[in-house]
Amino acid sequence: MGVLIRDVELAGRGRVDVRVENGRVVEIGRRLAGPVDVDGRGGALLPGLHDHHVHLAALAADAASVRVGPADVHGRAGFAAALRGGAPGEWVRAVGYHESVAGELDRWVLDDVAADRPVRVQHRSGAMWVLNSAALRATGLDGHGDGGRDGRFWREDERLRHLVPPVRLDLEGVGRRAARLGVTGFTNADPHPGHGLAQILSVLPQRLVVMGVDPPVKLMLDDLTLPTPAQLAVTVAGLRPRPVAVHCVTRVQLLVTLLALDEAGPAVGDRIEHAAVVPEETIDWIRRLGVTVVTQPHFPVERARAYAADVPSDDRPHLYRCRSLAEAGVPVAAGTDAPYGAHDPWAVMRAAVERGDGEAVTPETALNLFLGRPEQPAEARRLEIGAAADLCLLHVPLREALDALAADVVRAAYVGGRPIHTL
Ligand SMILES: [Zn+2]
Repeated sequence: MGVLIRDVELAGRGRVDVRVENGRVVEIGRRLAGPVDVDGRGGALLPGLHDHHVHLAALAADAASVRVGPADVHGRAGFAAALRGGAPGEWVRAVGYHESVAGELDRWVLDDVAADRPVRVQHRSGAMWVLNSAALRATGLDGHGDGGRDGRFWREDERLRHLVPPVRLDLEGVGRRAARLGVTGFTNADPHPGHGLAQILSVLPQRLVVMGVDPPVKLMLDDLTLPTPAQLAVTVAGLRPRPVAVHCVTRVQLLVTLLALDEAGPAVGDRIEHAAVVPEETIDWIRRLGVTVVTQPHFPVERARAYAADVPSDDRPHLYRCRSLAEAGVPVAAGTDAPYGAHDPWAVMRAAVERGDGEAVTPETALNLFLGRPEQPAEARRLEIGAAADLCLLHVPLREALDALAADVVRAAYVGGRPIHTL
């Protein structure tokens, strides 16, 4: 079954009609014959946006969570009200906590504000959960180990996961919200995709790449357990011919990764995730390796206050580079990293354009960060004959959309010619 979209603005083609059949673009031209299904009224037709780095299960769990970050609640009273929003006796999962809300947390602080229900609160860093006494009793952890005494658990997600009730995942909501933003594809970047994750995520109407199940293989680095470059090279070589996506959020992680890729030899599709700190002298090295940087250009804006406080001053000029990488010829693309960053790619693009640190890019470059192919994120997809009909139809011409860089320019989204969002 075909779809004829009348009068859309297509890059390089002006105002044309586009016919889609069997999930692909089959005809582009003026005044195509046949009944019109959609009148584009001169709005731009783009390839659907692809979020190249996102954590979909965590994003879906977010919907079943209470947000208790500094931007969400104010003071101890606001924190208490947020935890007590649901019915007594029901588990509360709260996320995004920071000490600036109500000070250091332990089981007794939580008992003071919500003793009548099991509560667990995740620190904004993602590294710590704090449980109240009801939660410690419900999980059988009361009195066991350090966490069992004060309720504070550092980097024990794996252990806790099996003891707390499963979180309701609102994947339908995630899919719907993303479709409204014109997102037609995701690359899920969890380091260890649990058994059946791809199956669980398959309810999403978007196209899906699950790292670790599909290429590339995600490799986590942690400064405390950092391999030597030679060790990492052996790991990478053992995974070939598959490409790798290496998580690099510190200077030393980037250097180890570049040395390892030098030794193992780069493969098509290799990526560096985040590239949070890129010293200037490594830019040309990254370009020579041909490895794609999948960055979060919005983090220096979203996290400006935290970075000003927490990032050493010699790292600050090198944070989440975008413009300098693109200008040097490094393949660059972006992911929202939601739920740890804003889930709206348009907000990410806006931040990429407006950031004030010399790394701001043009609106065109910002949009392209989300238009790449999943397997080659910096290589833009083009709407031409034979292309998959993953489409984002806008209310307005491209020039207006680039001036606005806001989600309300999106009118409809299609995956393989099938509408996943229409107004
Ligand atoms: Zn991530």
